[in-house]
Amino acid sequence: MVYDLIIIGSGVAGMSASVYASQYKLNHLLFGETPGGQGILAGKVENYPGYVSIPGPELMQKFIEQVKNYGIEIKQERVGGLAKIKAGFEVKTNKEKYQAKTLILAMGASHRHLNIPGEEKLIGKGVSYCSICDAPFFKDKMVAVIGGGDSAVTGAVHLASFAKKVFIIHRRNEYRAEPTWVERLGQKKIEKILTNEVKEIKGIEKVEGIVLKNPYQGSQELKVDGVFIEIGQVPSSTLAKQLGVELDERNYVKVNPGMATNISGVFAAGDLAAVQEGILFRQFVTAASDGARAAAGVYQYLQGKSPTPSWGSRFQ
Ligand code: NAP
Repeated sequence: MVYDLIIIGSGVAGMSASVYASQYKLNHLLFGETPGGQGILAGKVENYPGYVSIPGPELMQKFIEQVKNYGIEIKQERVGGLAKIKAGFEVKTNKEKYQAKTLILAMGASHRHLNIPGEEKLIGKGVSYCSICDAPFFKDKMVAVIGGGDSAVTGAVHLASFAKKVFIIHRRNEYRAEPTWVERLGQKKIEKILTNEVKEIKGIEKVEGIVLKNPYQGSQELKVDGVFIEIGQVPSSTLAKQLGVELDERNYVKVNPGMATNISGVFAAGDLAAVQEGILFRQFVTAASDGARAAAGVYQYLQGKSPTPSWGSRFQ
């Protein structure tokens, strides 16, 4: 059977695309090994319209229920390959092969690593890439958070309700995060270290400390039990590359305002899609919008109303 659409990725963008695809009555499948994607790692979400404050996992559960309400089950299969075929596209998973006329790529991104000595060997032994998930393991401990974006700042605030002390170390002298969260760094338990970097993570069986590039209060070494690396993401674009989808210089998938890629019938949405007009703004709400626009694009494409537009001058 050839589906109208296969959506790869079940984070906010993929699930929003599925809801809209259902409303357009598109016969579709939704793949995602971890339903909810990175949304389930979020702490309190206080900027998604309709919710004053809701934990990420709870919000994702509501998305999952909405997808299911239209009769769509998220297929928790690992997609290992994509190929162009006569009928459209073939999607090969660890279990089966599926065919569809169109694709929406919504595989998101994974955590960026610092690539410093000690990091890889101490993952799970005090090195974490998710403050929200691992904070309870650091009750009354000393921890360091690295980064200056929303993940690092919200992570540091969350950690402060468990840890004895939280150092937040950022390489610049101002944060990228939303000011309302930056304000919350002003609490007693959090110590801000600016214009500094972590060169090494020390420890044999578990994290024992970090080495800073510049001395802080007379020392380059800080004793900590945990290191939370929250320095952004790397797009999961391997499958897109396989298919010949055009990527930008940072490996994000190039899309036009209708979320169409350079390959006819292939759309992308959410964190995997490249920034448009130079505006870096990746939020739940923008991922949901991307997913909706991608589904609308697929619908129009299948109706023959909107062939994948050419890039025009936007990406030159
Ligand atoms: P981000 O916004 O890309 O910020 C990454 C931070 O890490 C930046 O401050 C960057 O420094 C720093 N960094 C990058 N590479 C580094 C390196 N090698 N060494 C030291 N520092 C490094 O990433 P994010 O905070 O993970 O957020 C990703 C997206 O998700 C953003 O759009 C964000 O708004 C969104 N998000 C939203 C929420 C929320 O709404 N509650 C929560 C989490 C994330 P520079 O500043 O110097 O570049």
